[in-house]
Amino acid sequence: MFRRALVLKCPLCGKRPSTVKRWLGHHERCRSCGIRWHREHGFELGPIALNVVVTFFLLGVGMIAGFVATAPDFPVLALTIGLVSGAILIPLIAYPFTFMVWQAFDLLTHQPDQAELDEAEKSHAGA
Ligand SMILES: [Zn+2]
Repeated sequence: MFRRALVLKCPLCGKRPSTVKRWLGHHERCRSCGIRWHREHGFELGPIALNVVVTFFLLGVGMIAGFVATAPDFPVLALTIGLVSGAILIPLIAYPFTFMVWQAFDLLTHQPDQAELDEAEKSHAGA
C-alpha cells in the first residue's frame, strides 16, 4: 500500500487515476475503485502532520549539510535563503505524497468493511 501511495496510485486498488486532483486537490473518491478518502473526521490532519515532519526532517538535513559543507565560514544569507525557500517549496511538493501515504496508513489501520467496499463499488459504477 505504501509503495502504491508513493507513486500516487490508490493504496487500495493500486490504480490511477486515484483521488489526487491536480497537485494539491482531491477528488472525493478514488476514480478507479470509488473508495472515499474522507473516511473519518479529522483525516486531513494526518497528511498535514506528516508533511510537517517530512519538511522539518529535510530542512534539518539540508541545514546540517549546508553547515558541514561550508564550515567554518558559513554563508548566512545563502543558507537562510535556501532554507526559507525549502520551507516554502518542500510542503508544496511533498503534499500529494504525504496525503497518499496517510491514506495508505488509514486504509491499513482502519480497513474498509464490506459495506464500505460495496458503497465504493456502487458509487464507482454509477459515476
Ligand atoms: Zn482505488
